[in-house]
Amino acid sequence: MTTSFPHTVVDESISAADGYYTLLRIVHLGPHTVRVRVHRDVELEPCFAAAEVLSSEMTWTPLVMHHPDHWFDRTATPFRHINVKAELEPLANDLTQRVTAVLVKTIALPEHVMDVVGALLAVAYGSAGERVITPDDVRWAKANGGPFRAIDRQDGSVLLTKAHRYDCPLLVSESDVPCDGKCQAVQTAGGNPSMN
Ligand SMILES: [Zn+2]
Repeated sequence: MTTSFPHTVVDESISAADGYYTLLRIVHLGPHTVRVRVHRDVELEPCFAAAEVLSSEMTWTPLVMHHPDHWFDRTATPFRHINVKAELEPLANDLTQRVTAVLVKTIALPEHVMDVVGALLAVAYGSAGERVITPDDVRWAKANGGPFRAIDRQDGSVLLTKAHRYDCPLLVSESDVPCDGKCQAVQTAGGNPSMN
C-alpha cells in the first residue's frame, strides 16, 4: 500500500524577544501528530531545529534535526520586531518535508483499525510481537480461506475472520446473524507458504 499523507497544519505560533525568536508548528500527518520547532538565539549553542512525533505515551520523540551550524549564519540576529516567519518558515517547511518522508514509510490506517490490528499482532505474537508480511503471504491469504472481514459487534468487540464464505449470513446480514454452519470448507485451506 502506498500512502500520501494529508498534511494539515493544526497550529502555528511564533514568538520573538530581544534575545531569541521561535516558530512552533503542530502538523497532522495521517495518524501522526508532529511538532516542528525552530529556535534562533543570539548564541549558536541554544539554537535548534527539530521535528518530533507524538508517541502513544504522549511524549515527543525526535525524528529529524537540522543542526544550527547549517542555518545560524543564514538567519538574522534576534530583535523584538523581527519577521519570524520570513526567517524560520523555510527551515520549518524543510523539517516538515523530511519528517513526512520518514513517516510515509509506515502505512497509514485509521486509529481504530491500528488498535485492532495491533491487538491481533500482540495476541498472536506477544506484547512485543513482530511479524513480516511478505507479498507471498498476502497472495496466499487472498487465495485461501474466506474473505477477510473485520466486523464491529454490539458488545464492543471486533471479529476478524477468514472463516466464512462470501455469502454466509454472518458476513452479509446487517445485524448479528450467526454462521449457517456451511463454511467449514473454507476453513481447511492449506499451509502458509512462509511457514514451510
Ligand atoms: Zn459462515
